[in-house]
Amino acid sequence: MMKQLAPFVFAGMPSRVVFAPGALSRTGDEIARLGRNRALVLSTPQQAGDAKTLARSLGERAAGTFSGAVMHTPVEVTEEALASFRSSGADCVVSFGGGSTIGLGKAIAVRTGADHVAIPTTYAGSEMTDILGETAGGEKTTRRDPAILPETVIYDVELTLGLPVAMSVTSGLNALAHAAEALYASDRNPITVLMAGEAVRALAQGLPGVVADPSGRDARSLAQYGAWLCGTCLGASSMALHHKLCHVLGGSFNLPHAETHAVMMPHTVGFNASAVPELMEQVASAFGATPGIGLHRFATRLGAPVRLADLGFGKGDIDRAADIAMKSPYANPRPFTRGDIVALLEDAVEGNTPPF
Ligand code: NAD
Repeated sequence: MMKQLAPFVFAGMPSRVVFAPGALSRTGDEIARLGRNRALVLSTPQQAGDAKTLARSLGERAAGTFSGAVMHTPVEVTEEALASFRSSGADCVVSFGGGSTIGLGKAIAVRTGADHVAIPTTYAGSEMTDILGETAGGEKTTRRDPAILPETVIYDVELTLGLPVAMSVTSGLNALAHAAEALYASDRNPITVLMAGEAVRALAQGLPGVVADPSGRDARSLAQYGAWLCGTCLGASSMALHHKLCHVLGGSFNLPHAETHAVMMPHTVGFNASAVPELMEQVASAFGATPGIGLHRFATRLGAPVRLADLGFGKGDIDRAADIAMKSPYANPRPFTRGDIVALLEDAVEGNTPPF
C-alpha cells in the first residue's frame, strides 16, 4: 500500500551544530563567527574549574566566568548572572554544562539579545530547544521563544567521558523520551519522525555501550548524537502525556528531573503506544518488544531507577498528582481518564512492568 503523507509544517533547523571530538578548541572561532568579541562563560559550581580553563583558553574572547548555575533556572540566579554579564562587558554567553547551565544561558540570551554558544556535557538535549523553564517564588513556568534557541552548539565527546554512568543513563533516558513523544506528536513532520527514529536507535545502542565502558568514545559519541537528535525533536514538536505528567511530578512534588523521566517513560509512552502502534514501530523494533515492556526492560538493564517510590513519591501522593494532571487539557494520541493516570502512577510507584 502506498504511504500516505499527512499535511505538515517544517520550521527549519536554525542552530549551527559543530559535532567533533576536540571541538571545544573551536569555541573562540565560533564566537568570532557570530561577530561577537567577548563571552561570559557559564557553569554550575561543580564545573567551575572547567569553565575557568575554557575562559583561559579563550584569551581576550573571554569576559569572565559565572559559575552559579543551578537546577530549574531560578530568576534570582539569573539576576545575579545578568549583573555579571553587564559588568564584565560581555557581548555573548557560552554555557558549559548540562541542562541547568544551558537554561541559564538561555535566560540571559532571551533578556539581553546576546548570542549563545552552548557546549553540552550531558545528554539532556536542552541546547537544541527554544524552551526555557524558570522558577520564581517556588513556581516553575515554561515558555517557548525563537530567541531562546542557542545560535551555536558544540558537541565534543571528550567532555562527556567523566559524566558519571548513573547520570549518563538518566539524562540519556530523559532525551529518549523526547524522541519517543515526537513520534506521535500531533505536529510531527517527516523530518522529526526520521530524526526521532534515528535517535531511538542511537540511544538503544549507545547507552548500553556507555554502561559497559564509560570511557569508550564510540558509545559516548553515539549517545551524544542521539541526544542531539532528541533535543531537536523536542524543540520541533509538541510533547504529550509523558512530558506533562513529568512536569507535574517535578513541579508539584519536587522529584528529580532526569530520574522522573526515566521511571515514567515505559508507563506513559507504553500507554500511548498501545493506541498508535504503527507510529511507534521504530521503538518496538529497537527494543524487541512492545514499547512499554521494551523501554522498561531497557531501563532495568541500564540500572536506571524504575520506581517512583525510590524518588520520594509514594502511593499517598497519587490522588493529588492525578488531580493536577487532569486540570489542563493537552493533545495526546490516546484519550485518558483520571483512572488511567492513577493506574499509570500506581505501576510507576511500584516499578511494575507496564501492561502494554
Ligand atoms: P544538570 O545540568 O542539572 O547537571 C547535573 C550535574 O551534573 C551538575 O552538577 C553538573 O555540573 C554536572 N555535570 C554536567 N555534566 C557533567 C560532566 N560531563 N561530568 C561531570 N559532571 C557533570 O543536568 P541535566 O540533566 O543535563 O539538566 C537538567 C535540567 O535541564 C533540568 O532543569 C531540566 O528542566 C532542564 N532541561 C531543559 C530542557 C529544555 O529544553 N528547556 C530539556 C531538557 C532538560
